[in-house]
Amino acid sequence: MIISVSSGKGGTGKTTVATSIAVSIANSVYIDCDVEEPNGHILLKPEYTSVTPYKKLLPEIDTEKCTLCNKCVEVCEFNALMNAGNEIILFDELCHSCGACAYFCPEKCITEVGKVMGYVRKGKSTTGDVEFIDGILNIGEETATPLIKEVKKQTIPGKINIVDSPPGTACSMVETVRESDFCILVTESSPFGLSDLKLAIDVLKIINVPFGVVINKYDERYKATEEYLKENDILLLSKIGIDKKIAEDYSRGIIPVLKSEKIRKDMIEIVEKINSLINSKQKV
Ligand code: SF4
Ligand code: SF4
Repeated sequence: MIISVSSGKGGTGKTTVATSIAVSIANSVYIDCDVEEPNGHILLKPEYTSVTPYKKLLPEIDTEKCTLCNKCVEVCEFNALMNAGNEIILFDELCHSCGACAYFCPEKCITEVGKVMGYVRKGKSTTGDVEFIDGILNIGEETATPLIKEVKKQTIPGKINIVDSPPGTACSMVETVRESDFCILVTESSPFGLSDLKLAIDVLKIINVPFGVVINKYDERYKATEEYLKENDILLLSKIGIDKKIAEDYSRGIIPVLKSEKIRKDMIEIVEKINSLINSKQKV
């Protein structure tokens, strides 16, 4: 099973919820796909068993053999190649590694070479019985989705894979959550939280991923989120109250469930709700 954890905006406590669920349930894997800014490792403190470079294939042109025929520029769907008159220039960040340029080059002077974009790390959490996987993108790399795809390939069948998504609704979020069995959207009690939650809900509806909402830093004076969920018949999975102690623990890299039996029970309840929802849909 794959449960992704996402949020319309940063700072809602998405990673706290994702790691808390992972350490609260048995048979779990935590997968951090927030490859531009992974921080699950700060809370789960893994001992790494492998760190594997992830390479993107990029075309390399032998300028001695190149006749500047322009064929590669014409076949590149992504405008990653430009004929500058005296040489063919590659824009790395636009290249999707499709290989078309090398295939169609009449002089066969293009070879595909691997460029390290980042790393996939695997290990075991030392703060709970959790398998740990994350991706970390090299600074300066502009496209996160190829590495996210690689990290997602590491999901472990037969286990409950908790996939921590990048915040927002950009393509990195879509890539992370799109094959999930269920997505937990973490929001907070504020107008900004609600506004970004609505955007994330729109995305999940378009890509047809079932979802429910956790209101973190719950403030009972702010009713708009609950009203919106009720009006739109959206599943409210849990409300986690504002707690100074949770914030203090988090700032020290301590997962709240390690200190609170109540939060642990809340996390287990969230997964039980999701499980029964998925099972009831499969029976229909
Ligand atoms: S297709 Fe090959 S020969 Fe033609 S411009 Fe591109 S690299 Fe040069
Ligand atoms: S590999 Fe594909 S995307 Fe990259 S430059 Fe060649 S044709 Fe364009």
